[in-house]
Amino acid sequence: MTAETRRILLVEDEKAIRDAVAAYIEREGYWVTSVGDGQVAVEEFDKHRFDLIVLDLMLPGLSGEGVCRHVRDVSDVPIIMLTAKGEVEDRIIGLELGADDYLVKPFSPRELIARIRALLRRAHIESEPQREVLDFGHLVIDVSGHRVLVDDVDVDLTASEFKLLTTLSRYPGRVYSRMELVEKVLGYDFEGYERTIDSHVKNLRAKLGDDPRTPTWIFTVHGVGYRFDFPKGVSLGSDPDARQYLDVSRTIGAPSSPTDTR
Ligand code: CA
Repeated sequence: MTAETRRILLVEDEKAIRDAVAAYIEREGYWVTSVGDGQVAVEEFDKHRFDLIVLDLMLPGLSGEGVCRHVRDVSDVPIIMLTAKGEVEDRIIGLELGADDYLVKPFSPRELIARIRALLRRAHIESEPQREVLDFGHLVIDVSGHRVLVDDVDVDLTASEFKLLTTLSRYPGRVYSRMELVEKVLGYDFEGYERTIDSHVKNLRAKLGDDPRTPTWIFTVHGVGYRFDFPKGVSLGSDPDARQYLDVSRTIGAPSSPTDTR
């Protein structure tokens, strides 16, 4: 078993189904522990770490509902419920108890594997640590290290300027209103403070060497606020996750044409 192998707890009292599903999951490269009743499931869960649970709702002894309750008290591990046809209410109960997904019997093993994959992928993404370095080529922002470098030279920013820059640059292309920036950067919302954002932007631009008339990074959006962008063709670093992160953020951004050069 490698570190990459995900562990799945399968709880199903019908032996034929249990064996078939276990074999199928194993064939996909996962590590399976299969048990036939709820009490044993809870004991196994308490003893070992699992990445996902496939849980039949109707079980002898402790029901799937009871198992789900027990697990949810202590863990966010993804749970897929297996329910019999027509047990609509049971399905709703399962989801209300915190199951992530459900499958109605009879189901295709391929469908189950697809659901398992999707939930494991989601759980993995959610547990990923936040990106700590935003690399825009000439401009590098080390978010966790509270450092900003322009052409490899440290730029000394105040806490507000740093917060302003990281807020804008996390979503290149997205337009932030002054009001939004007041809330995010200064932490309060009071109309009179909107213009203080302008001063912060002015200082930040000066420190970064970003000319407001022909900006490279921080663009004014007239009548609204500001947005961050970076030159097209800039290599976004060697980290493929970083690339993906930035690609994603660009798709939700505003129109990319620089609307203004105040
Ligand atoms: Ca059952």
